[in-house]
Amino acid sequence: MTADALTMDKIVSLARRRGFVFPSSEIYGGLGSAYDYGHYGVLAKNNVKARWLEAMTQERDDIVALDSAIILNPRVWEASGHVAGFTDPLVDCRTCKLRFRADDLASAQCGRKPSKHPGETEECDLTEPRRFNLMFETHLGPMHETADKVYLRPETAQGIFVNFKNVLQLARRTPPFGIAQIGKSFRNEITPGNFLFRTREFEQMEMEYFVPPDEADRWYAYWIEERLGWYTRYGIRPGHLRVREHDADELSHYSKATSDIEYLFPIGWSELEGIANRGDFDLTQHSEHSGTKLEYVGPDGERYTPHVIEPAGGVDRALLAFLVDAYDEEVVAERERVVLRLHPRIAPVKAAVLPLIAKDEQMVSRARSLYEDLRRRHVVEYDDGGAIGRRYRRQDEIGTPFAFTIDEQTLEDDTVTVRDRDSLAQKRISIDSARAWMDDALERPWNTPKAG
Ligand code: ATP
Repeated sequence: MTADALTMDKIVSLARRRGFVFPSSEIYGGLGSAYDYGHYGVLAKNNVKARWLEAMTQERDDIVALDSAIILNPRVWEASGHVAGFTDPLVDCRTCKLRFRADDLASAQCGRKPSKHPGETEECDLTEPRRFNLMFETHLGPMHETADKVYLRPETAQGIFVNFKNVLQLARRTPPFGIAQIGKSFRNEITPGNFLFRTREFEQMEMEYFVPPDEADRWYAYWIEERLGWYTRYGIRPGHLRVREHDADELSHYSKATSDIEYLFPIGWSELEGIANRGDFDLTQHSEHSGTKLEYVGPDGERYTPHVIEPAGGVDRALLAFLVDAYDEEVVAERERVVLRLHPRIAPVKAAVLPLIAKDEQMVSRARSLYEDLRRRHVVEYDDGGAIGRRYRRQDEIGTPFAFTIDEQTLEDDTVTVRDRDSLAQKRISIDSARAWMDDALERPWNTPKAG
């Protein structure tokens, strides 16, 4: 399906219909831009995180993992510049009573008809921009008045910087080396929206790569390519990705250079992940504020503050991109089907095991034993509910790449059919080889025809 024909509503509706993502606290009327993940959403999101962690840590030997606390000593956020500077400029409209990000009026809609961008009609009465800090505050301790004010982290990166020395010493790393972390972040966004694209609570996948200062430019270019390659490896169409370098006036206070990997979402080209050259800003700031020197000292006494290259992506935003890119509608044998052409290693369920006739005890028993064998290694689903066509369609909509069907012939010659989600081709293999066949299918480089 081409990008311009796909709306976010179709993704939201499929996600809900098939139990990937629900609006949060729905029975109480929901909570703006908060979502709960259902079974398939959890499985798919875990796959996104697992593939990232694999690429960052398992497939290379220069990056280690970390899981730092969400609530850190508040001085961390003073040193990082977030207390003073993690703000968005906010304007209110006195006429329509809506609130906008002053730096993004061009993509906002005024609340009155005919809808225009805020400030474009004479009726708009915008306040002067005010700086609004995006960090959520809370209190540590039982007595609100005397308790310490702390913050829910707005990014995972600072938890990495404050552990730099631990990793340097205990993981015995020398630059270039990286620390990777996945975890929840919280931002009191002024204009959340567009489903999972921008929420106030979300998960990030961030990696801080510490390098000798004179190698920073090279590693910055390297990580842009590396991250682009990760998205295409897991099935995103290269034509739906682009790199956009920030102009000097767009750069964050810490950044020497930043490039966004953008994806062609139904809302248009938007940031999927940012790769920043943070220079020595963070380690220098934390050295000064904490009094602990965060530097590298080599065996022959050379010392320097490493520079940092940071690929920072969002788990939920990445999952949204995978769903959008995979969504397809087509007509097969005069019937329309919706299919998620997810990469098998991102797909929540790897295979379905289906007895052709649910009332046939022998078929059911063969199907159950194949299912129990396969699930020892893979997430697979057994389904005997309803006509076979309907069961296939259900699996297509959740993106299950393979289906094994047990039929009359299975009972005669111990073979099963394997149906391919994308080509719809069916072939017979021996039931005993099904597990090895799946192991192999999930290892193979994957290529599905996608339009556009
Ligand atoms: P944006 O410009 O979209 O607000 P950002 O440049 O502030 O994003 P970063 O601080 O670079 O974002 O965060 C890294 C990644 O975290 C983003 O590329 C995105 O994938 C994800 N992310 C950031 N904010 C949100 C959010 N509110 N909801 C979901 N994901 C987010």
